[in-house]
Amino acid sequence: MADDIFVTRPYLPPLDEFKDLLGRIWDTGVLTNCGPYHQELEEKLCEYLNVPHISLFNNGTIALVVALRALGVKGEVITTPYSFVATSHAILWTDCTPVFVDVEPGSLNLGPSQIEVAITENTAAILPVHCYGHPADVDAIDAIGAKYGIPVIYDAAHAFGVECHCGSVLTHGDLSVLSFHATKVFNTFEGGAIVCKTPEMKRYIDQLKNFGHHGETSVIETGINGKMSEINAAFGLLQLGYVDDAIAKRAAIDERYRAELVDLPGFYCLGDTGQTRQNYAYFPVRIGAEFPMSRDALYYYMKERGVHPRRYFYPLISEFPMYRNLSSADSVRFPNAATAAEEILCLPIYPDLDDASVTRIITMLRDAAASRV
Ligand SMILES: *Cc1c(COP(=O)(O)O)cnc(C)c1O
Repeated sequence: MADDIFVTRPYLPPLDEFKDLLGRIWDTGVLTNCGPYHQELEEKLCEYLNVPHISLFNNGTIALVVALRALGVKGEVITTPYSFVATSHAILWTDCTPVFVDVEPGSLNLGPSQIEVAITENTAAILPVHCYGHPADVDAIDAIGAKYGIPVIYDAAHAFGVECHCGSVLTHGDLSVLSFHATKVFNTFEGGAIVCKTPEMKRYIDQLKNFGHHGETSVIETGINGKMSEINAAFGLLQLGYVDDAIAKRAAIDERYRAELVDLPGFYCLGDTGQTRQNYAYFPVRIGAEFPMSRDALYYYMKERGVHPRRYFYPLISEFPMYRNLSSADSVRFPNAATAAEEILCLPIYPDLDDASVTRIITMLRDAAASRV
């Protein structure tokens, strides 16, 4: 029996190189509190991502909470039910109320028209997700935010390095939030960041993630501890040197899947939403009615044979107990998201997934497509 293959596997650079970076931490005794590695990683990420300002965090979820807080968001936040649960949890953690709105059937991102009809006098922010790293319709969504004077925060946890027509997708909205969790394209074990536009906002976010400290003796905000440690920042600096290679390896797998699965009936690879640079964070496919088995049947068929795809995002966030009684949580209000939750399967994709494993997955899918079950 061959080894099991999981949907992802964290990318790790050579251990020896990390040991060298750790030496400096042992020499200086600076473990955290925005030390030299933290500062260097912020600078290098601004360059790599081509964004004006970035503030590093200990994870993406705290970064989302702080982003909402930094903009003083209070009230209803329009968001997608089709995401990882942290997107909505951040809204509840800031005592705001999520308002779930449907996604577009192709991109599975919030669409501008759906957002606009959901705006009321209680709407305090818009929180779209660049689902699977496919950019949302940023120009149209930013324009709605501007028209109604409502801040836009993008959950860009999937969108590291993604570019669209006007450069980095992360420069859209008021703030964009990244995750550097182990499962993401660029990881620092755990980590995250907020991208912002002005030095004033960067300074404010830096205060919020550091207990609200302002200088040595004053505290100006009910801040939190959201700082990234030196060990994570050092690891990020090392990772950054390998991330282009890691994305190229993902791209090669993406290309093989598309080329070798294109003719399967009822099997649709999700893709282009206008990005000029992709990061191949996920490989979502839609299992349609013409495929000989349902999405769930295919999911179990593969698992029994040692390949473990994931049903991102099933169930919808709105089904979880802390959301299901909200007035916006009824899935009749978002048929596209509800259908996607039933039909989408994410196939394994990660830099170290070798050719033989990709062949095994493709053969398995072709066998499933040819089966009569
Ligand atoms: C991973 C993820 C997060 C949370 O990031 P963490 O760094 O794990 O806290 C938030 N939103 C989305 C869409 C994610 O995929």
